[in-house]
Amino acid sequence: MTYQYDFDYLVIGGGSGGIATANRAGMHGAKVALIEASDIGGTCVNVGCVPKKVLWNGANLLSNINHLAADYGIDVDVNAVNFSTLVAARQAYIARIHKSYQNGFNNNKVQVINGWASLVDPHTVLVRDAQGKEQTYTAQYITLSPGGKADYPAIPGAEFGNTSDDFFALTTLPKSAVIVGAGYIAVEIAGVLNAFGVETTLLTRGDRPLRWADNDITDELLENFKQQGIKHVGNISYEKVEKLENGLTRLHTNQGTFDSEFLVWAIGRSPNTANLGLDKVGVQVDQQGYILTNELNQTNFEHIFALGDATHAPALTPVAIKTGRLLSERLFNGKQGLHFDRNSLIPTVIFSHPAIGTVGMSEKVALEKYGKFDAQTNPQGIKVYKSKFNAMLNAVTSYPEKIYMKLVVQGTEEKVIGLHGIGFGVDEMIQGFAVAMGIGATKADFDNTVAIHPTGSEEFVTMR
Ligand code: FAD
Ligand code: NDP
Repeated sequence: MTYQYDFDYLVIGGGSGGIATANRAGMHGAKVALIEASDIGGTCVNVGCVPKKVLWNGANLLSNINHLAADYGIDVDVNAVNFSTLVAARQAYIARIHKSYQNGFNNNKVQVINGWASLVDPHTVLVRDAQGKEQTYTAQYITLSPGGKADYPAIPGAEFGNTSDDFFALTTLPKSAVIVGAGYIAVEIAGVLNAFGVETTLLTRGDRPLRWADNDITDELLENFKQQGIKHVGNISYEKVEKLENGLTRLHTNQGTFDSEFLVWAIGRSPNTANLGLDKVGVQVDQQGYILTNELNQTNFEHIFALGDATHAPALTPVAIKTGRLLSERLFNGKQGLHFDRNSLIPTVIFSHPAIGTVGMSEKVALEKYGKFDAQTNPQGIKVYKSKFNAMLNAVTSYPEKIYMKLVVQGTEEKVIGLHGIGFGVDEMIQGFAVAMGIGATKADFDNTVAIHPTGSEEFVTMR
C-alpha cells in the first residue's frame, strides 16, 4: 500500500460498527484512524445495550426477591433500592469497557482522534475537537458509522419529554413514568422502571407494542404487563405536553391526560447524518437521512462506505459489528466480495420482563408468505407448534409468570422458519437455535436432538 494519503482508512464514529471495522483493518496492517466526537463505544456501550442490560439484571434480581424469595423459604425484606449505587456500579463497568477498547486500539495500532468529523472532499475529513481546533486528514478509504439518535414528536411541549439517553442519566428513580412508543426501547424501559417500583404507563399508537413480533408473544407480554402492574393504553394519539406547577409533565391525548414525573419518547430513532458534510461531497442519503449503500456497503463513492444505524441495516449491535469486520476483511485482507448478507437470519432478544427471544418469521408473516399447510392442496404451507408452561423457577412459588414458546415450520419437511419465546431464560436460549435454523434445521432435526433436562429450552426440541 502506498502512503499517498495520511491514512489507509478513516472511520467516522467510534460505536459498535466503527470500532469493529477499525480494529479489524488495523489487525491486517492498515494505517487506521477512528474519529469519535463523544465517548468511545457509541450508543451500545454508553447509552444502549450495556447500561440497559445492567439495569435489566438489577430489575430481575429485585423482582425475584420480591416475588420468589419467600416461597423459596428465604426470609428477606427489601428496605430500600439505592438506585444511585447501581448506577455508579454500572458506570464503573462502562469505564472498564472504555479502557479495554483502548487496549484493543493499542494492539491493533488504531489511532483514535477525538472530535466531530465532516467530509470536505471525497478523500478528506475535517475534525473539529472540543476546543474548536480543526485539522484535516486524508484517507484512501472512508467509512461512515455515525449511528443514530432518538426522535422527538413534532408537538407543542415535546421538549418536556425525555429520551432513552435521559433515562440512562437518571441517578434517582421517578415515582411515575409515562412511556410513549411501541418498540424495543419503550418495552424495555417500561419493564425496568416498573420492576423498580415506578408507577409505569406505556402508551402505544397501535393496539399493542412490538407489532412486528409474533402476536401470541405480544399477547403474553401484555398478560405479563397486567400481572406486574404496567398500565398499557393502546390506540393513543397525543397532542401536546405541558409542565404543571407541581413539576409533573402532562401529556394530552385522544384518551385523556397522563401525568408523570418522567415522560419518555421512545418512538424511534433517526440517523446521525446531519453536519457530516455528506451534501457537500455528494454522498447520497434518503429523505430521512439514512446513507444509501449497495450490498457491499459502498455509497455512491466506491471508496466511501457506510454501516450500522445510519444505514437501513437492522439497528442491532451485532449487525453493525459483523458488517464492519467483513468490510475490513474485504478491504484489507483480500477477501474479495465479502460482505454482510442482508438476508441473514438475525436472532434478537427484547429485554422485556420477562425476555422475548425471536428468530425468523412470525406466524402472521409466514402465513402471508406460504399459507396454511395442507398435504393435498398446499404442501409448502406452514404449521405451528406451541407450548405454555410453568418455568421450574416459578413452579414452586405462587408467582404466575409462564414461559410461552412457538415454532413455525414450513413444507412437508417441516423446516423451522420461526422460533419465538417469552419467559424466564428465553434470552439465553435462542442463540444456538439460530445456528440450527441458519443451516436449515427441520422439526425432525429438533426432535432428534437429545433434550437437556430440566430446562426450559428442552421444550423447543420436544414440542408435539
Ligand atoms: P453507534 O453505536 O451509535 O455509534 C456511533 C458513534 O458515532 C457515536 O459514538 C457518535 O458519537 C459518533 N459520531 C456520530 N457522528 C459523528 C461525527 N460526525 N464525528 C465523530 N463522531 C461521530 N442493540 C443490540 O444489539 N442489543 C441491545 O440490547 C440494544 N439495546 C439498545 C438500547 C438502547 C436504549 C438503544 C438506543 C440502542 C440499543 N441497541 C441494542 C442498538 C445498538 O446500540 C445500535 O444498533 C448500535 O450501537 C449501532 O452501532 P453504530 O456503530 O451504527 O452506531
Ligand atoms: P423502534 O423503531 O424499534 O420502535 C419505535 C416504535 O414506536 C415503532 O415501531 C412504532 O410502533 C412506534 N412509533 C413510531 N413513530 C411513532 C410516533 N410518532 N408516535 C408513537 N409511536 C410511534 O425504535 P426504538 O427507538 O424502540 O429502537 C430503535 C432500534 O434500536 C430498535 O429498532 C432496535 O433495532 C434497536 N434496539 C435493540 C434492542 C435490543 O436488541 N434488545 C433494545 C433497544 C433498541 P407502532 O407502529 O406499533 O406504533
